[in-house]
Amino acid sequence: MLDRAYYGAAGVACPLLTMSCGLLAGAILLASASVALAQPKDAEPATRQLHAEVLRSLPFGDRADFDDAQRGFIAPLPADIKSADGQRTIWSINRYAFVTGSAPATVNPSLWRQAQLNTFNGLFRVLDRIYQIRGLDDSNMTIVESDTGVIVIDTLSAAESAKAAMDLYYQHRPRKPVVAVIYTHPHADHFGGVKGVVGVDEVRAGRVKILAPDRFMDHALAENVMAGNAMFRRSLYQFGPALPPGERGQVDAGHGKNISRGGTFTLIVPTDLIRERYEVRTIDGIDIEFHLVPGSEAPAEMTLYFPRFRVLDMAEDTNHTMHNLYALRGAEVRDARLWSSYINESLDRYGDRTDVLIAQHQWPTWGADKIAAFLKKQRDLYKFIHDQSVRLINRGYTPNDIAETLKMPMSLATDWSTRGYYGTLSHNAKAIYQKYLGWYDANPANLSPLPPVEHARKTVEYMGGAAAVIARGREDFKAGNYRWVASVMNQVVFADPANRQARELGADALEQLGYQAEAATWRNAYLMGAMELRNGVTPLPSAGALSFDVIKSIPIEMIFDLWAVRLNPEKAEGKAMVLNWRFTDVGEQLTLNLENSALTNLRGKLAAKADAGFTLTRATLDSILLRQTTFANAIKAGDIKVEGEPGKLGELVAMLDDLPAAFPIVAPEPPRP
Ligand SMILES: [Zn+2]
Repeated sequence: MLDRAYYGAAGVACPLLTMSCGLLAGAILLASASVALAQPKDAEPATRQLHAEVLRSLPFGDRADFDDAQRGFIAPLPADIKSADGQRTIWSINRYAFVTGSAPATVNPSLWRQAQLNTFNGLFRVLDRIYQIRGLDDSNMTIVESDTGVIVIDTLSAAESAKAAMDLYYQHRPRKPVVAVIYTHPHADHFGGVKGVVGVDEVRAGRVKILAPDRFMDHALAENVMAGNAMFRRSLYQFGPALPPGERGQVDAGHGKNISRGGTFTLIVPTDLIRERYEVRTIDGIDIEFHLVPGSEAPAEMTLYFPRFRVLDMAEDTNHTMHNLYALRGAEVRDARLWSSYINESLDRYGDRTDVLIAQHQWPTWGADKIAAFLKKQRDLYKFIHDQSVRLINRGYTPNDIAETLKMPMSLATDWSTRGYYGTLSHNAKAIYQKYLGWYDANPANLSPLPPVEHARKTVEYMGGAAAVIARGREDFKAGNYRWVASVMNQVVFADPANRQARELGADALEQLGYQAEAATWRNAYLMGAMELRNGVTPLPSAGALSFDVIKSIPIEMIFDLWAVRLNPEKAEGKAMVLNWRFTDVGEQLTLNLENSALTNLRGKLAAKADAGFTLTRATLDSILLRQTTFANAIKAGDIKVEGEPGKLGELVAMLDDLPAAFPIVAPEPPRP
């Protein structure tokens, strides 16, 4: 899988990142880190005070979620899930055994509560014939017992975890065959484990159907490929896989514990797409009404209703947390208005005939009244953020103003399911701004400011130099003004990344912000920033093999566009070439054109006049991308036939930059040792 694998190998960066891809490398890097890391510090008085206020202001006495999260419990997860070769532990829920009892001073009590709820794990009976495996990933696997077999909804992010989920289920239920797999949406934690559930031969033979929402494959590949390298690096900040789990480290991911790391990422192409807004299918005696909800939590997504069981599966459109309209790892923003409207439709259509609401993250909700109340709050949560952000936008507010001004109405602010453990009101409001107005706030002073390092140097100089800024920063730290200290120390560090004192003080401020954060994602980001300020960027291991399932699914023009986004413009300056490509096994052809330092391709066409032409199979290209062979070796072996000038290809490849495995974030460059 998406191991370090994705780093730049043959130029294809982390194709399927979403979260899961993101998680791996970090954990691996951590596990193998032999350097002693600077230790996190304790909570400061201001942080303790804030936590005391949280305890006073939220309804901690309401323990209904604890009942629901444990209801129907059958058996816990196995202690460790190993990688296919048995060499590595890819998941161990026991790493979170510390998440118990009252909140430590270093964790926001509201997040601590959520982290406890997300730690309940194992096989659960939702009702007769519907089971869930929770805690084996951040997402759930749902199993529906059909007349002769089982229907599996979502397959976690790694084949090993998915297999462990199936094994756990079969230990407690009759071993009936899988008759269908349903992917609710193309995020990797919902399909990456599919080969742990079914073999590709069973699918090819028609024994197992794979259902998915329309345009599933486009989005599985498109959403995260082009900027995959950056998303991968940034996702380490969002999920914190490189942070050791602990009271001063990672405690949760917000809408689940975390994602397994370093397992086998797989993909089987769906055999049956849901294309209509509502579509009913009968699968092995079970009627399922699918509702397409594209452009909500994912660009392709669907919810499921089971009339026979009076069960509604909201996929990932409702959660026991505010979700992300913008993901901190970097992503296109989501449409809150549309998302809310789908929830409203579900409430209208199914609200009065649903006894249990399940989802593909976290625990179910039982009882018509509670379900209606839950759906209304989820619906209004996204509508409120949308409408109120737009209201302020139209009054001229800029993103930071909006984030600071907006306050949730009491009815949503005191409801556990709408609090921000994954998304936050602050960053989601900015997502609304981004959706409608983009990055520019219309203030021309912000149109072309100096770049970060120059800006920081001038700022620190005008403020009287680094020593003066640090001295005042220490006062503000004592006063608990961590946001300001983090921001101003960032200026000093960007002016001089070797300034140890600034790095330390900046790290201390970020750390307190992490301890204070209610959102798991913010906590992870802050603590990761603190760790990297103190210890520098840990180099990632070198790239390994890419996931075959992913590579072979990437459309041919996208493979060449992944080269195009690595083209070094200085090396390409003044160069021009035309290369013809024929792929005999898939009957594809394509022209690759370099001029004006831009690499373009035209699928389905060959140029009449080309500098060189290459005839090969797509399988050969895939094995080159998988690093099983090289262009040179494949030509030597006769797997690539070359016409014209064979040297042209080497010339082009030499113009492609390698992608950095771990670029700096909290400092302009890695610190000097
Ligand atoms: Zn998910």
